[in-house]
Amino acid sequence: MSGGGETTRFAPSPTGRLHAGHAFAALFAARAAAETGGRFLLRIEDIDAGRARTEFEAAIFEDLAWLGLDWERPVRRQSEHRADYDAAIARLEAAGLLYPCFCTRSEIAAEIARSADAPQGPDGPLYPGICRALPAAERAARRAGGEPFALRLDMARALEAVRGPLVFEERGRGPAGEHGRIQALPGALGDVVLARKDGGASYHIAVTVDDALQGVSLVTRGEDLFASTHLHRLLLALLGLPVPRWQHHRLIRDAAGARLAKRTGGTSLADLRAAGVTPQALLAEFGL
Ligand code: GLU
Repeated sequence: MSGGGETTRFAPSPTGRLHAGHAFAALFAARAAAETGGRFLLRIEDIDAGRARTEFEAAIFEDLAWLGLDWERPVRRQSEHRADYDAAIARLEAAGLLYPCFCTRSEIAAEIARSADAPQGPDGPLYPGICRALPAAERAARRAGGEPFALRLDMARALEAVRGPLVFEERGRGPAGEHGRIQALPGALGDVVLARKDGGASYHIAVTVDDALQGVSLVTRGEDLFASTHLHRLLLALLGLPVPRWQHHRLIRDAAGARLAKRTGGTSLADLRAAGVTPQALLAEFGL
């Protein structure tokens, strides 16, 4: 923090062109910093090497500059900080809170289809725990045999490891109007993957570690990530990291009321710009 102001960030993934929803998120974060005389950071979430492309990163800089935004340098690129995420994962693993999961997507889907009472999360059925109770010898043998595995959080153990209720402060609104001091209930997300089969850290680990290391004091982002915040609060507690506040905001929708997606043609900022839309017109449309 500088002089009591909020440190905020915009954290896009360079996997496509930015659209109006990203513009809103970036302007929202920058405004939250500016209003308090704080700092606005830009973070490139390029941890998914298979989908991130450098030309999209260059386009992000171009689009944000067009919007009139300025951000601190150097920009943090997640691909350059894998060691930080690996250290966090190693710490959770050493605490006995992770387990290797060898399941394929189809094995998980088959298990969910088979069980009548498959646990449900906010985004659909949860991981049914197939690998949670594998005998240690089988785990070791499969690992030694080179079978690929992800690392999942053992949610029950993680909740036990945290003493006292977990709360977080919501400055904006969650999707159901949640506001103020909120009890984190990460159990609803089940045994989430924290390290992927390809060895990369998951979004949840990277974003939690980065926000803490960068001193982000106010995490502003779309309300679609509200459920994830419950998990991030738990990860912060498990990793002993400083806890920011959150401000979730509405999502920008198209004329038909659907969420904007990176791949939808015709809605990218570049397209809007080419069609003669000005940044001022966008801000007015957003009510910013
Ligand atoms: N990279 C994420 C996205 O593109 C950012 C999520 C966040 O702000 O925490 O939506």
